[in-house]
Amino acid sequence: MHTAIIIGTGFSGLCMAIKLKQQGIHDFIILEKASDIGGTWRENTYPGAECDVPSALYSFSFEPNPNWVYKWSMQPQILEYMQYVAKKYDLYPHIHFQQELTSAEWQEEQSNWLIHTKSGALYESKTFISAIGQLHHPNIPDFEGKNRFEGDSFHSAQWNHNISLAGKTVGVIGNAASGVQFIPEIAKTARKVIIIQRSANWILPKQDRMYKDWEKKLVGRFPFLLKIYRNKIWLLTGGLFLLLKSRNRWLRKIYQRKNLHYIKKHIKDPPLIKALTPDYPMGAKRILFSDTYYPALARPNVELLSGGVQEIRSNGLLAGDGSIHELDVLIYATGFKAHPFLMGLDIKGSSGKTIQTAWKNGSKTYLGITTHGFPNLFMLYGPNTNLGHSSILLMAEAQSAYIAQCISGLQKNNWASLEVKPEVVKAYQQSLQSRLKKMIWTEVPHSWYKSADGTISNNYPGRTMEYARRTRRVDFGDYIHIS
Ligand code: NAP
Repeated sequence: MHTAIIIGTGFSGLCMAIKLKQQGIHDFIILEKASDIGGTWRENTYPGAECDVPSALYSFSFEPNPNWVYKWSMQPQILEYMQYVAKKYDLYPHIHFQQELTSAEWQEEQSNWLIHTKSGALYESKTFISAIGQLHHPNIPDFEGKNRFEGDSFHSAQWNHNISLAGKTVGVIGNAASGVQFIPEIAKTARKVIIIQRSANWILPKQDRMYKDWEKKLVGRFPFLLKIYRNKIWLLTGGLFLLLKSRNRWLRKIYQRKNLHYIKKHIKDPPLIKALTPDYPMGAKRILFSDTYYPALARPNVELLSGGVQEIRSNGLLAGDGSIHELDVLIYATGFKAHPFLMGLDIKGSSGKTIQTAWKNGSKTYLGITTHGFPNLFMLYGPNTNLGHSSILLMAEAQSAYIAQCISGLQKNNWASLEVKPEVVKAYQQSLQSRLKKMIWTEVPHSWYKSADGTISNNYPGRTMEYARRTRRVDFGDYIHIS
């Protein structure tokens, strides 16, 4: 029997493990479905995969890295950083690889969680911590004729590196955060790249650059400089948050104009400029950062079709504008199934109630971390904790420290369980929903930030500092504790 079982070794899972250790809790294990750590940074290996948050901020505050090569790191360097952190904090001995969670059940009498994995293993733990992330079920929409395509096809998060794209005609459906990163890369070798866009995105320049050796040496020698630099980036992301408030129309106009200038700098063809100009307010979907996407669109071997897909055929596709395209390879950059939360997992709480039943009218949590009816269950990167403006690692650190305090509280007080009070969840949800109404995310009919009923189920409507303040100290009065 363990004190805690963490599911997943992405940034959140690693952070959680470190915070437990810092609280003096060492009796925990981490279940990882794959044979290496890394979560999304292990799975997304598409060409050009990188982070759209600068690494000085997209890294742990307690583990600054003076050796980032670029301001915005590529996937291999991020994965390397995670492996370094896992080694430094001696997390590997805690990880059980190739153990994919299938179900978890709260055992009322024993006050613990019984956890099953795909391999048939069975674990028992006082507490159960989900760190499975929000974006790990690749989404390939049910396009008419999808299974008829005879060429090679794959999703961006399941990149098939055995297939060479050199000299081939490649179709890409989707042009958001993943698409804009790999399209410029594949356009370098493919004969032709045809992008099938359904909606345009707001894209700002990254102005990426390599760090100079002297800069790395300087911040390595004087770590406080790295801290100042991190804080400067964090303050800038706070500026971006202002764009996400519906009322800040003037600021949005300034940024939208900036985007238009940026398009026109690289694209001279008026119909293409029009196709690339979004018809919704900036920030309503994730704002993208790229130095390479628009220049790639100006290449003669890249074509943008802006009417979506009508039908996929054995040798290509019929685009929304009625044009027919023969393709050798078809790549889906169509995002992830982000709903419902904890999808595919059979989680039973008090009285055997499943999480699907408890959340049939929406995933109602307190701080995105706990939910009534599921004692000793904690979530990282849970419902309404995603951001549209800053580093998610700031949220992961706040959540991990909060959960570690809860578990420490359980131990110190000799409580059998902690369960958030229903009235606490209700009050939190009321305030959350009223704040969400003031955010720009409401102004598009669909995005992965929203669940099918139109509720914004993924994002947090505040700044990272505010969330950190709210989660700094656990108020055990918010919880029912059973001795
Ligand atoms: P996404 O943002 O969900 O975008 C999916 C794309 O596929 C959109 O262009 C969407 O068009 C299109 N699409 C979906 N269904 C379609 C359909 N039936 N017909 C035509 N087009 C369709 O997915 P993503 O680009 O993989 O990014 C998901 C999230 O992952 C990001 O928002 C971000 O949080 C994360 N991510 C982060 C990074 C990073 O650098 N940190 C990099 C990649 C991804 P519409 O816009 O019209 O819906």
